[in-house]
Amino acid sequence: MLRVAVVGSGPSGVYTAQALVTQTLVPDVRVHVLDRLPCPYGLVRYGVAPDHEKIKSLQQSLRAVLEHERVTFVGNVPVGGDGVPPGRLGALYHAVVYCVGAAADRPLGIPGEELPGSHSATEFVSWYSAHPDAEAGRFALRARSAVVIGVGNVAVDVARILARGAEELRPTDVPQPALGVLAGSRVREVHMAGRRGPSQARFTTKELRELGGLPGARIVVDPAELALDPAYAGSPPDGPALPAVVRRNLDVLRTWAACPPGPDIDRARTVALRFFLRPVELLERRGRVAGVRFARTVPDGRGGVRDTGAYEDIGAELVLRAVGYRGMPLPGLPFDAVRATVPHLAGRVLRDGVPSPGEYVAGWIKRGPTGVIGSNRSCAKETVASLIEDAPLLAGRPAAADPLGVLRSWGLRPVEWDGWLSIERAERTLGRSLGRGPVKIPDWPGLLGAARGDTPAP
Ligand code: NAP
Repeated sequence: MLRVAVVGSGPSGVYTAQALVTQTLVPDVRVHVLDRLPCPYGLVRYGVAPDHEKIKSLQQSLRAVLEHERVTFVGNVPVGGDGVPPGRLGALYHAVVYCVGAAADRPLGIPGEELPGSHSATEFVSWYSAHPDAEAGRFALRARSAVVIGVGNVAVDVARILARGAEELRPTDVPQPALGVLAGSRVREVHMAGRRGPSQARFTTKELRELGGLPGARIVVDPAELALDPAYAGSPPDGPALPAVVRRNLDVLRTWAACPPGPDIDRARTVALRFFLRPVELLERRGRVAGVRFARTVPDGRGGVRDTGAYEDIGAELVLRAVGYRGMPLPGLPFDAVRATVPHLAGRVLRDGVPSPGEYVAGWIKRGPTGVIGSNRSCAKETVASLIEDAPLLAGRPAAADPLGVLRSWGLRPVEWDGWLSIERAERTLGRSLGRGPVKIPDWPGLLGAARGDTPAP
């Protein structure tokens, strides 16, 4: 028997567990999927936007893995930092696979970034996703104008949530306090700005198109900014050199640019998609953010941009920085500070360039924060192939007969699958009491109480 711990129950952790129990070379692999939260599914629960029900429904297939007879979910067990050091965890299992994601935000590194009113998109996402570490009162949405910096899918998510009416979010699992704030939101203009051109935007077409479908929002695209882009102006739009996603994105943007919406009293909000604007400073008024100063850029002919010397200020009392995630070092594990990933060889953790017995990585902490959820499946398979190849060596390492008993003896209070099912029941009860579907419990005491079987207060 091979005992393996997987640290992290997001998609990469669960796909790793799945690959471990479905491979046939080593038949008896037992997997504990550890998470510092009492809830499984990582970014599928705490990152995928609440109005993306189809992606959220992936939880059903992740659930089937966590209910596999040789897989055990073990929540409320932090690893690294104030939690269990990797060295101690490694002594309980034949192998540990770290699937801890990329939890930090990439900094912008410009003046004013820390002003009140300036937040990372992750803070906003955590707030509307009911992450128990998010401050419930963090966002009041009294701003009339918001700037979202970055043109990736996270930028599109936060722009869409800002532009969507609260009534449309009511059927989702958005926590009740956030729904109340969204209902009273004064945000009328959302400006999403990319430092490069539309053909270098990182969003995908489905997500982009969705903005145009928002019933309460008008989309504004400046044709002059599209025309600057060589992919728009120079190469034929259907030319073979253009990746399909770029071609599709340009088609959508062109359509919006060609049909500027008239003033429409039914459409309370405007989403402006802006390009060739490099943020250089967050502007301040009375100690709070008042806008963003952008340097105007033009293509440099090599896929990048150069400044033109001109600037544009966009007024905003709310700034969300959606410029990508970044992996965080896990004390006790090696870390490549430049790539913000754990150094590895096909998933085997490298210490001083040499594979470290029994230590593996998968997901964003292995390859960086890129790709869609499904990308984690092949990433996990590669890591598991390495682990299974090492199995004869790993089986010779000591492992605890009852790792959960040892964790408890160290003072930890693991939440197992029954505890999670109890949280799910409590969220359904909470939703019913509010006349809604399941509603997420947004705080630690509420989640841990629910795991013990308490009924949450509405
Ligand atoms: P991302 O795709 O890497 O996009 C980051 C954006 O920030 C880019 O537009 C980038 O521009 C810009 N940026 C980076 N540094 C900047 C700076 N210093 N100043 C100005 N702009 C800067 O990251 P993400 O949006 O956080 O998404 C992370 C991953 O999650 C992606 O793989 C994404 O597809 C995935 N995701 C998917 C969905 C979905 O499928 N619905 C939803 C959310 C997230 P440059 O290109 O010029 O660097």
